[in-house]
Amino acid sequence: MRAAGIDLGGTKIEAQIFDDHWAVIATERVQTPKTYQALIAAIVDLVRACGDLPVGISAAGLIHPQTGIALTANLPASGQPFPADVAAVAHRPVTWVNDARALILSEAIFGVAEAQSRVAGLILGTGVGGGVAVDGRLVLGPTGTAGEFGHSALPASLVVKYGLPVVACPCGRVGCVETLLSGPGMVRLAQALGEPGATPKEIAAAKGRTWQVWCEVLAELLMSVILIADPQVVVIAGGLSNIPHLVPDVSAALARAQFAGYPLPDIRIARGGDTAGALGAAYAAWRQAQT
Ligand SMILES: [Zn+2]
Repeated sequence: MRAAGIDLGGTKIEAQIFDDHWAVIATERVQTPKTYQALIAAIVDLVRACGDLPVGISAAGLIHPQTGIALTANLPASGQPFPADVAAVAHRPVTWVNDARALILSEAIFGVAEAQSRVAGLILGTGVGGGVAVDGRLVLGPTGTAGEFGHSALPASLVVKYGLPVVACPCGRVGCVETLLSGPGMVRLAQALGEPGATPKEIAAAKGRTWQVWCEVLAELLMSVILIADPQVVVIAGGLSNIPHLVPDVSAALARAQFAGYPLPDIRIARGGDTAGALGAAYAAWRQAQT
């Protein structure tokens, strides 16, 4: 056995133990408790079941780099020193990885971006998450927010060109790309462009004005990602990654956004799978244990 990963979601918590070849050899799943104390107890039970293996926890949200206080929308842990409380009760350290970052790391090591040295990822779902991995390691700086691409500012050129709405984001900022690029964001965009009443799947299938503008906004975000991280591969995951023509349409929009004649990163849909988050967190914990 090599390492364990715990995928901590809003409805279930799943622990996976991986062997020396990173194959799953044991799985345990429980419902996510509704209170903080019960949540700590449930996670600690799973951590203890992993014995003395390195354990990584993949969870949505952010851990404040100085205070250790969690900021998370889908767990009863916001405002609490979540990692410290788990470590204190479990009497052992665990490695915390943002769920989007865990997925990107898993794709960079084992998935569609395997063996690529520079990988960026975007999770397009109810929110917009992401991450950057270089040479098989996540880019993690003093704030731990590298890869929170969803909270980049909307491109001014497109806001002016299409009269896009600039609205408050749940993160506390105003005008984040997530407010138009997430699934609910695409619906908001359709309303703003006079094509209301459709689901993201219907909007994409119609290939009308909303879909075209959405691809342009995403392309501008990817252009910013290129300018900062210059990835060889961009991995797209999340519910919206199921749109069948997403890659060619976004690639075409990105080709128009990119400096004329410059190459584009390869846009690939995540291999994903049920264990991707746990696998990424387990790998991060294992790497940390090596140092
Ligand atoms: Zn935001």
